[in-house]
Amino acid sequence: MKDETKIVVSGRNPEDNFGIVNPPVYHASTVLYSSLAELQQAHRDRAEGKQVVTYGRIGTPTSWSLENAVADLEGGYRTQVFPSGLAACSFAIQAFVKSGDHILVTDSVYNPTRQFCETVLKKFGVQTTYYDPLIGKGIAELIQDNTTVIFTESPGSQTFEMQDIPAIAEIAHQHGAVVIMDNTWASPLFYKPFEHGVDVSIQAGTKYIVGHSDVMIGTVTTTEKHWPALQAAANQMGQTSGPDDVYLAQRGLRTLSVRLKQHMENAIKIAKWLEDRPEVHSVLHPALESHPQHDLWKRDFLGASGLFSFRLKACSKEAMAAFLDNLELFGMGYSWGGYESLIIYADPSSYRTATTWDNSNPLIRVHIGLEDPEDLMADLSAGFEKLAAAS
Ligand SMILES: *Cc1c(COP(=O)(O)O)cnc(C)c1O
Repeated sequence: MKDETKIVVSGRNPEDNFGIVNPPVYHASTVLYSSLAELQQAHRDRAEGKQVVTYGRIGTPTSWSLENAVADLEGGYRTQVFPSGLAACSFAIQAFVKSGDHILVTDSVYNPTRQFCETVLKKFGVQTTYYDPLIGKGIAELIQDNTTVIFTESPGSQTFEMQDIPAIAEIAHQHGAVVIMDNTWASPLFYKPFEHGVDVSIQAGTKYIVGHSDVMIGTVTTTEKHWPALQAAANQMGQTSGPDDVYLAQRGLRTLSVRLKQHMENAIKIAKWLEDRPEVHSVLHPALESHPQHDLWKRDFLGASGLFSFRLKACSKEAMAAFLDNLELFGMGYSWGGYESLIIYADPSSYRTATTWDNSNPLIRVHIGLEDPEDLMADLSAGFEKLAAAS
């Protein structure tokens, strides 16, 4: 089945719900049993990994609808939903480490994931080494006897380095380390992590799965081998997500394929246009031939999303503010993946440790929404005029 079809049919069971197309929103805590035998059977089934309703926190047809669809699309065994993308990142890591372990994390990682490593993991005696995202097979030199996890994110969501995931996975597996990937940028559609050696894949569902800038949610999908550890960690720590948010996420998922294609088309158009602008130093978009790891993107990815960065030619803070403050269609704010365009200034030099980042050409990250690209270019052009006037 092609992805466009899977997106429509996965995780839905109308025959179990009066023929109603969408899954029901179950608000559940207590679940009643008619006999002791029934109660004990339900718990035996659950212990065997079956999706049976035993208690609201453990899962309902509402959460399984989203989880089963995401597992199907990412190509993994099972999925666990989390109340945010960051919760998905932190749980994916903590499920596979113990005190005394060492993990390797890409220097291009989503910064709050880095903060989790630097605070919670450190407190529990897990040590983190950050590595150059372009390291590839060179990761072998950083592996220690106690390295249990290699965390990847490709591309990085501000600086857009592409990682050679299959090369890293090959080395990791030789040493028995678990490969975790934050696959949010490509969504489950444009990168198939389990075909490239990833063991555990994360989606900040808040972004493209939800797609409408309103719900926070995350997912972690694993191979069959890694599922028991992930599920145990999630259950033991009481992870559960509100049914209304889960419902909205599975509703958003149903239109992901059409939205993402439009985000890709609009973003590539604007990225190419930016490359020719005199105010722009360079554009960091993996689908452009000018991107240093364009070949990796072409080899492994099935498409590009709407998120990329560009670097302005060196300018004053005032000039950059004049550009950003005067845009009308680009909102200034965090997150991305909704239907609307966003823009934000970022300074990776402030948090990198394994690599350096030259911030003399200010980094601007954009999310290209579903507006008409001509209107977006006109908005950026007007902003560039303000930049020039303030220079
Ligand atoms: C936004 C984001 C997250 C965190 O998701 P939240 O739902 O905001 O917690 C994790 N990873 C990446 C790459 C993101 O862009």
